[in-house]
Amino acid sequence: MEAAKKILTNIKMPFCPGCGHGVCVKSISKSLENLGYRSKDVIIVSDIGCSGLVDPLFTTHTIHGLHGRSPALGVGVTLGLDNPNKKVIVIQGDGGATIGLQHILEAARRNIDMTLVVINNLLYGMTGGQMSGLSTNEFKEYKHSNDDADPYDVVNLAHQSGAAFSIRVNNISNFTDVLEEAIRISGFSLVELSSLCTSHGMKKISEMKHYIVAEEKLTNNRSVGVSIKRNTASLLDKSKILTPQFTSKINDSIGIVIAGSAGGGVQSAAKMLAQAAILSGLYATMKGEYPITVGTGFSVAEVILSKKPIHFTGLENPKVVMVVTEDGWNKVKNRITNSTKVFVDTKVSYNSTFITKDFLKVGGKKGAALSAVSYWIKESGVFPIEALFKVVEDSKYVTSLQKAIKGAEELRELVYADRK
Ligand code: SF4
Repeated sequence: MEAAKKILTNIKMPFCPGCGHGVCVKSISKSLENLGYRSKDVIIVSDIGCSGLVDPLFTTHTIHGLHGRSPALGVGVTLGLDNPNKKVIVIQGDGGATIGLQHILEAARRNIDMTLVVINNLLYGMTGGQMSGLSTNEFKEYKHSNDDADPYDVVNLAHQSGAAFSIRVNNISNFTDVLEEAIRISGFSLVELSSLCTSHGMKKISEMKHYIVAEEKLTNNRSVGVSIKRNTASLLDKSKILTPQFTSKINDSIGIVIAGSAGGGVQSAAKMLAQAAILSGLYATMKGEYPITVGTGFSVAEVILSKKPIHFTGLENPKVVMVVTEDGWNKVKNRITNSTKVFVDTKVSYNSTFITKDFLKVGGKKGAALSAVSYWIKESGVFPIEALFKVVEDSKYVTSLQKAIKGAEELRELVYADRK
């Protein structure tokens, strides 16, 4: 009895007469004292709600958190202290557990060395008895209209997330023993204690047994710092490794913009350009931009090719812009400066300084962007066009892609013919 005064103050419990929270508070303090904790070694983190009225009752350190967020606060305190001789106890109600369920799962997943006590009286007491996510359907029937949604099982959820120990206790005579067991655990422990809201819940505690969930105790064989890892396949496992087979004459970097319409193969052409560059020993990045409604409007892609690693993928002043449709033109025309080299389809726009070609005619609607890319590769000699042929050879559309690339070569022959 003497020891209990060390953790509990003499302040009168603030709860309504008969409220189950008083038993929970006394059980928490008793378990800490039985385990030999001194006030200065315990940090109580409380939540909003009637269970959050506990701060003045303890002689320990106390911190009051936002509704549902106290587990996250407890995680921060635990990690900040990084001291196994200190004990962080988080106390919240079923309402707080509902609001901040993700924070509980996160603490369990990381097996944070703290104890969360969920005082479950099946309702939001402080705000008038509204149902929480832990309210059972039988209890809802008593208090409100029933619904089909089962209550959250926080004990099981914490277990599934990796909690070292999680338990539900309904019998108040076992509260102290169970809390001691949980507090002793190295890692995250959750104890759900049944409580009774005498003001908004049951008038007779004897009836409560019809509404509560059965007790359960779950453990994961897991110490602090020990991860539970699942062996999963990597998305990268199926990626093709691009090993350089060609060479490039680039010594620095070059930024390219390809612009067209949705469904016109712009993003694919940009990706193939980047892959061909990697096959030619360059570093490459690719970024796409298109409206949320991906099947309509413009489609723009940015590609950076570089001899050196690319640490910034932004592209303010592209050196090359390729445009194959009016949608693309309207989107990128303001990015064109006097020093930009512009390749544009004949149907889009005309400017004597642009290189204007029939990309749509030789590549078709879906291959025009690839034709423009192919034309630029040949025209600039940035790397061999064979690198692009190599990229497309595994595609299920290989025939039409090869046609689009070859079409660009035909355009180049016309250029030579024009110049003669
Ligand atoms: S409202 Fe309910 S939960 Fe809150 S103190 Fe009163 S009896 Fe306890």
